[in-house]
Amino acid sequence: MAFLDAALWGGKVNIGGWTEAGGGAFDAVEPATGATLGSVGLANRDDVYRAASLAAKSQLDWAATKPEERAAVLRRAGQLWEEHAAEVQHWLTREAGSIPAKAQIETHVAANECYEAAALPSHPHGEVLSSDEERWSFARRRPAGVVSVIAPFNFPLVLSIRSVAPALALGNAVLLKPDPRTAVCGGVTLMRIFEEAGLPAGVLSLLPGGAETGAAVVEAPEVRVVSFTGSTAAGRKVGESAARLLKRAHLELGGNSALIVLPGADLAKAASAGAFGSFLHQGQICMATGRHFVHDSLYDDYVAELSAKAENLPVGDPATSDVALGPIIDEAQRDKIDSLVQDAVARGGRLTAGGSYEALFYRPTVLADLELDNPAFAVEIFGPVAPVTRFSSVDEVVEMVNASEYGLSVGILGDVGTAMKIADRVHSGKVHINEQTVSDEANAPFGGVGASGTGSRFGGATSNIDAFTEIQWLTMRPEIAPYPF
Ligand code: NAD
Repeated sequence: MAFLDAALWGGKVNIGGWTEAGGGAFDAVEPATGATLGSVGLANRDDVYRAASLAAKSQLDWAATKPEERAAVLRRAGQLWEEHAAEVQHWLTREAGSIPAKAQIETHVAANECYEAAALPSHPHGEVLSSDEERWSFARRRPAGVVSVIAPFNFPLVLSIRSVAPALALGNAVLLKPDPRTAVCGGVTLMRIFEEAGLPAGVLSLLPGGAETGAAVVEAPEVRVVSFTGSTAAGRKVGESAARLLKRAHLELGGNSALIVLPGADLAKAASAGAFGSFLHQGQICMATGRHFVHDSLYDDYVAELSAKAENLPVGDPATSDVALGPIIDEAQRDKIDSLVQDAVARGGRLTAGGSYEALFYRPTVLADLELDNPAFAVEIFGPVAPVTRFSSVDEVVEMVNASEYGLSVGILGDVGTAMKIADRVHSGKVHINEQTVSDEANAPFGGVGASGTGSRFGGATSNIDAFTEIQWLTMRPEIAPYPF
């Protein structure tokens, strides 16, 4: 039987095992062809509350297992991502519309997330404090308890596993709610990996569904921490609900990341970086390059080179042809992209490549000469569109970059000394010098500021321990302390 055989999971949710879904089922659809790939169970509120209650009970035993046993489950999960990479990549290509290179990035990062997380159970979990009293004093980290993970469609595997793996490793139980458009890649694959890796039943539950299921995994009484990755609009709702219920919410949200091309930068390399930053996975990446700022001295040549590159990139079904760009996830997203592009042109922007589509295949698009208040420049497009404008001084470009409400990623190409000064002045969760804006590694603290997130970080031991544990202050004396009355 194949690892992801639908006979196991078709039409079901996982709450202590594969079980009938209270909310019925929905189709997993291939955006490139419209074909139905399978049937996914839809979790309703009762399912979520049942899963949360089971999670709270299962978590106690899981947190009590030896660190070595928890580490072994995570190591085995890492190996399983490698063993089943081809099958998982097949689903990433068909359900998420990923080109093979992007699908390979996802399975590779998924394995690394598990290997990194395998070190967390035995990582120091606190500090020994000084005390003015005659006692020992500790700040010790304990599991948060039940953690809900809500993930988006674009990098469905990475954006689920980056929270699921460290949360489990640190002794939590997890409720996973993937996006319904990528519920197999962002949900079923993880459930199957951890089943095979030997995670006890009930510690991880799979609860696919839309916004209503998402609201329920925030509200379920046993849930203490929510890890949300998605749009700023939905993140606000999750944050409001969590605040009302006094729960901790880590919000990783939208972006409109800037690429700065400095005077003297290598033009061909800069255009290649710019194309990759804007067009990888059809631009459906939170840290995609959404704004290109190019120095006056290179501006015309950069626009020409980037446009030529865009015109030559093949677009089509990544399951059947060798393409650089696959489909947009659905019609609503494609129409939003197209209306922003057409509106940008109507407002005086110059279309130098693309700007058209067939079915869900949107041509890589370059828009030049945009005013800063042009919506194509000011909002997150989440499509294969490269909006370009010019700058003449460092002060000017810093001001333009910081004018965005978002602050996820900035790439700076060219002279390193100038780039370092700019890095000091931009409001951004990450800065990449001589790279475009898209980059992630399992051991690096990933996250944004402003409308891109509340400042939480995922990745690396420090950030993950902060995200998925609570501190308990513990003091200890050899005898009962004396008191004045
Ligand atoms: P979305 O916010 O619509 O959906 C994301 C997830 O939240 C899905 O699972 C969805 O079902 C769920 N959801 C939606 N409304 C909800 C609610 N009210 N309560 C609880 N859950 C709810 O996001 P999208 O538009 O499909 O995804 C793209 C967005 O995600 C972009 O804005 C992108 O920048 C952002 N994103 C951010 C990061 C990051 O790390 N900062 C990474 C990837 C994507």
